[in-house]
Amino acid sequence: MASVFCFNNVIFRGVRNFRGNTFYAFKTVNTQIRNSSSAVNKSNNSYEYDLVVIGGGSGGLSAAKEATNLGAKVAVLDYVTPSPRGSKWGLGGTCVNVGCIPKKLMHQAALLGEAVKDAQSYGWQFPDAENISHSWDALRDAVQGHVKSVNWVTRVELRDKKVEYINGVGVFKDPFTVQTVTKQGERLLTAKYFLIAVGGRPRYPDIPGAIEYGISSDDIFSLPNEPGKTLVVGAGYIGLECAGFLRGLGYDATIMVRSVVLRGFDQQMAEVIAAEMQDKGVKFLHKCLPKAVEKLDDGKLKVTWVNAQKEEFNDVFDTVLFAIGRRALTRELDLAKAGVKVAGDGEKIDAVNEQTNVPHIYAVGDVLYKKPELTPVAIHAGRLLARRLFGDSTVNMDYENVATTVFSPLEYGCVGLSEEAATEKYGADNLEIYHGYYKPTEFFIPQRNISHCYLKVVALREGDQKVLGMHFIGPNAGEIIQGFAAAIKLNLTVQVLMNTVGIHPTIAEEFTRINVTKRSGKDPNPASCCS
Ligand code: FAD
Ligand code: NAP
Repeated sequence: MASVFCFNNVIFRGVRNFRGNTFYAFKTVNTQIRNSSSAVNKSNNSYEYDLVVIGGGSGGLSAAKEATNLGAKVAVLDYVTPSPRGSKWGLGGTCVNVGCIPKKLMHQAALLGEAVKDAQSYGWQFPDAENISHSWDALRDAVQGHVKSVNWVTRVELRDKKVEYINGVGVFKDPFTVQTVTKQGERLLTAKYFLIAVGGRPRYPDIPGAIEYGISSDDIFSLPNEPGKTLVVGAGYIGLECAGFLRGLGYDATIMVRSVVLRGFDQQMAEVIAAEMQDKGVKFLHKCLPKAVEKLDDGKLKVTWVNAQKEEFNDVFDTVLFAIGRRALTRELDLAKAGVKVAGDGEKIDAVNEQTNVPHIYAVGDVLYKKPELTPVAIHAGRLLARRLFGDSTVNMDYENVATTVFSPLEYGCVGLSEEAATEKYGADNLEIYHGYYKPTEFFIPQRNISHCYLKVVALREGDQKVLGMHFIGPNAGEIIQGFAAAIKLNLTVQVLMNTVGIHPTIAEEFTRINVTKRSGKDPNPASCCS
C-alpha cells in the first residue's frame, strides 16, 4: 500500500516493496531541501534511494535499469575524468565511448580495406583503383558520431526508465552515504544498497615522457591527427587490436612485447595470431621494455627501450600508445569511509557474488578482483544482482566459461580452458587435443593467406570426451565461438560435436569436422574443401 505525505516542501511517497519494507521516495523543490531530506534517519531504514550506483558504464547501467524495472528507486552517478591528453566523453562507460564499440568500428574499417582489395578479384571494378585511400578524419568523425548517438540514447533510456542520472563523482562519506558535487552544488545520497561499478582507466609506465607525450585507448578513437607511425606498448587485447586496425588502415605499427603475446591465452593460438599480424606488416619488439619518450623539435617522438640483455635501442614515432593494462578506480572512492576492503593488489574489490565485505555494498564489472574485464560479464552480473536484490531471484553470476574474442586482423575467439590451463588442471595424459587448419572458401579467389586459419578443441580423453575449451582463429571468430559457448555450458562433448551436422560452406562447420588429434601426429592440414 502506498502512503503519501508532505513535510518541509518535500513530498514523501511510501512504497511497500519487494521485501515487504516501506521505502520513501522523495519529490523535492530544490537542492538544499533534497540534501537535507537525504539525511533521513538511517536507523529506520528510510533512505533516499533503494540503490545508488557509482559508475554509469556497462555494469552499473545494467544493474540500474533492471532494478528500476523491478520497482526500485535508483540513482546513477557517472563522471569521466579527462585523460592526460584531455580526451573526455559522455555517459555509458568505457565500452561505448573508448572501448568495444569504437574499437569494433575501427577494426571493421580495417577489414573493409582488405575487402576492397578482395572485391577486385571478384570482379568489382574501381575506375581509379590505384588511388583508393583512407581518411583518418572521416573515420574518426563517423566513429565519434556513432558514439555520441549512443550517449544520447543511453540518457533517454535512463530518463524513460526513471533512473536518476547524476553527472558527478561519487565518494563515500559513510557506509550509507555517498557525496557528490554537481553543477547544482553538493549532494549527499543515502541508499539501502550501493553498487560500485567504477571500472578502470589505462595505466602509464613510470618512465620519462610517458604521460606527457604518450596516448592510450582513451585517446586513439578521437585522435585529432592521423596516428602515423605508431609504437604500441603492450601485447594484450588492446595492444593487438589497436596495432591491428592501425596497420589495416595503412599505418606503420609496431608492438612492444614485455613477456609474451596475449599472456593467459592459449599460447599456441597467440603465436598464430602474432604470426598472422607479422605477415600483415605489424612489427614486434619481443622481450623489450620502454625506457623513455622524448619529444623532438619536429614534434616526433623518440622512444628509447631496452631488451632482455639490457641493450638499448631507439626509434622515432609519430604516436606512442600505451596499452599496458588498466587501473581500477577505487582510490578515488574513499572506500575506507564505507569500510570496504580492497583485494591483495591494493586496488580491486574481491567480492563473493558481487557482495563486498560490507553487506549492503556490492561491486560489478572491471573493478572486481580476478574476474574477466569484459562488457557482457559486467552487464550480466549487474542484471543478475539487481534481480537478487529487488526480485525473487537467487541466480548468481557464473564467471566460468566466458567466451571472448580478440579483434585482431584475423580474429581469435575462445571459450573455456587453454591447452596450458587444461594440462595444469587435468594432466596432459588425461587430455585429447583436436586441431586442424582449414581453408575458408571465400579466401580462394583473392588468394588470401590461409596458413593461419586454425582451430583447436581441448577435451578430456575419457568417455565421450567432455569439451574443456574451444579456440578458433579466422574471420568472424566472435560470431562463431558465441554459439559454442552455450554448448559448452550444456557440457558439450567431442562425440556430440562430431555428430553435429555442419552448415556448408561455412567456417564454423570446421568444428564439426575435427578428427585429428595432436597425439596422433597426423597432418592437421585439410585434404580438400569438402572432404
Ligand atoms: P566502465 O564501463 O568503465 O564504466 C565505469 C564508469 O564509471 C565510467 O564512466 C567512469 O568514468 C565512471 N566512474 C568511475 N569512477 C567514478 C566515480 N567515483 N563517480 C562517478 N563515476 C565514476 N570488452 C568486451 O567485452 N569486448 C570488447 O571488444 C572490448 N573491447 C575493449 C576495448 C578497449 C580499448 C577497452 C579499453 C576495453 C574493452 N573492453 C571490451 C572491456 C570493456 O569496455 C569493459 O570490460 C567494460 O566497459 C567494464 O564495464 P564497467 O561497468 O565495469 O566499467
Ligand atoms: P592486458 O590484456 O592485461 O595486457 C597488458 C599488456 O601490457 C600485456 O602484454 C603486459 O605484458 C603489458 N604490460 C604490462 N605492464 C607493462 C609495462 N610496465 N611495460 C610494458 N608492458 C607492460 O591489458 P589491456 O590490453 O590494456 O586490456 C585491459 C582489459 O580490457 C583486458 O584484460 C580485457 O579484458 C579488456 N579488453 C577486452 C577486449 C575484447 O574483449 N576484445 C578488448 C580490449 C580490452 P605482460 O604479459 O608481460 O604482463
